[in-house]
Amino acid sequence: MRFTRLRLNGFKSFVDPTDLVIHDGLTGVVGPNGCGKSNLLEALRWVMGETRASAMRGGGMEDVIFAGAATRTARHFAEVSLQIDNTERLAPSGFNDADTLEIVRRITRDAGSAYKVNTKDVRARDVQMLFADASTGAQSPALVRQGQISELINAKPKARRRILEEAAGISGLYQRRHEAELK
Ligand code: ATP
Ligand code: MG
Repeated sequence: MRFTRLRLNGFKSFVDPTDLVIHDGLTGVVGPNGCGKSNLLEALRWVMGETRASAMRGGGMEDVIFAGAATRTARHFAEVSLQIDNTERLAPSGFNDADTLEIVRRITRDAGSAYKVNTKDVRARDVQMLFADASTGAQSPALVRQGQISELINAKPKARRRILEEAAGISGLYQRRHEAELK
């Protein structure tokens, strides 16, 4: 599955609607400190179903909503949309009948997150599973956060194992087993 477009609206420092077309090959994002490079990667992680506010460098998930600046008032919602080229039909069944997938996550203050895939309402878990099965999940080692390399080196064996399991593409199975055990 290839990411082709990332759109942000009210997400962190991206207060105005921002539309990024992702072309084939390597994409670099350059800019001065604090311009929002890490925020972009977090938007990607977030739209894939990340539930840990700490992974967004926030105390609560609503911290991803633009919090206001000297000349701009705070926003009430944040939305990120990720477009995926699915012409090779690599998406899991249930999502695999369209050439393009558009995943949208929106958070509203006091109302939490809502997700859509191709305009249809879905659960957070559906989106997480979509990416876990495609082994590019929100926690996938394919998305390497600033400081994550040293975290990996210092990680306890259990945490390191989880990362290896994602790399092996079995985290979807692992999550299903965990859910089965809870039943
Ligand atoms: P560096 O090169 O230092 O890693 P960066 O380009 O990765 O910088 P980010 O960490 O993505 O920069 O962006 C940080 C900026 O985002 C800060 O100016 C911070 O105030 C702003 N920011 C983060 N969350 C919000 C929010 N909820 N509302 C408004 N601005 C925010
Ligand atoms: Mg950064």
